[in-house]
Amino acid sequence: FAKRIGRNTFKFYHESMNASLLKRLTIENHLRQAIEKGEFTLHYQPQVELVSGQLSGMEALLRWHNSELGNVPPLEFISVAEENGLILPIGEWVLREACQQATIWIKQGLPLQRMAVNLSVKQLSQPDFIETVQHILIETGLEGHRLELEVTESLLESDPSRFIETLTALKDMNIRIAVDDFGNGYSNMSRMKEMPFDCLKIDRSFINNIGSGSMGRSIVSTIIAMAKTMEKRVIAEGVETTSQVDFLRIQQCHEGQGYLFSHPLSSKHAEDFLRQRQSLSNQRNGTDDVKPF
Ligand code: C2E
Ligand code: MG
Ligand code: MG
Ligand code: MG
Repeated sequence: FAKRIGRNTFKFYHESMNASLLKRLTIENHLRQAIEKGEFTLHYQPQVELVSGQLSGMEALLRWHNSELGNVPPLEFISVAEENGLILPIGEWVLREACQQATIWIKQGLPLQRMAVNLSVKQLSQPDFIETVQHILIETGLEGHRLELEVTESLLESDPSRFIETLTALKDMNIRIAVDDFGNGYSNMSRMKEMPFDCLKIDRSFINNIGSGSMGRSIVSTIIAMAKTMEKRVIAEGVETTSQVDFLRIQQCHEGQGYLFSHPLSSKHAEDFLRQRQSLSNQRNGTDDVKPF
């Protein structure tokens, strides 16, 4: 094949492939040993109730530091892990670690209502997924209602009915289900209503456009109104400015998450954050003016 299209063409093809393919292969190689080498950690990003200013939960976000590659962002390695199946052991590690951490904080009396964990569709498609979750909850001592699982909207695109059974089983364990990055995909709204989701997370790109014109704002208020019609809780992702919060409060969006409230924090810093919130709410006890943000 290379001969027929000529040496130059082949060389061009070869070199353009080089950078991205090599990068993926390198990532894949190091990813294989990342769990046993203890290279993963979780960071935690607070989620805040917009009306009360109270902390509602934290989202666990995977971090990978490799001695050769440095810090590799999830957007670069999650897709590789999904392709080669490594997302299964990695996702299980994330779930166990996040549940363990949540139990520790809750036992210490820190004001954490729930822990949100991202799931890959691959995980959800495993026939033994429910068993795995059950096992992890028992092992870590976390109650089901303390866990929220985030699935991406892509789940809704092909045949969402094949997930109903699994999602319903999770709901029976009192686990909440959130749709992540909502608004990005092409989900069928009538099907959406039938799915056992508790929460929609409005994608960051829409929140970003709140400040850029009435079109951006009306899209966000439409998404919020629609979510409310379906009786879902709504979280705005990627909240960065106070004017975005003002708008979201007026639209009665339930919760927000983003750099304005806090960047994702290491477990140590997340614990400090929880302690601060705890003493803040103790000080404010008795007043109804609880709006730290
Ligand atoms: P996501 O679940 O939508 O997570 C939110 C992402 O937005 C995080 O990026 C977070 O750091 C970032 N973010 C939060 N607030 C702001 C903000 O105000 N402004 C901006 N510009 N960004 C903000 P991160 O940690 O790089 O994660 C990227 C994606 O990787 C996640 O998007 C999620 O889809 C995936 N991911 C992360 N951890 C896991 C995991 O444990 N399992 C799976 N399957 N996917 C994961
Ligand atoms: Mg998420
Ligand atoms: Mg998201
Ligand atoms: Mg997003």
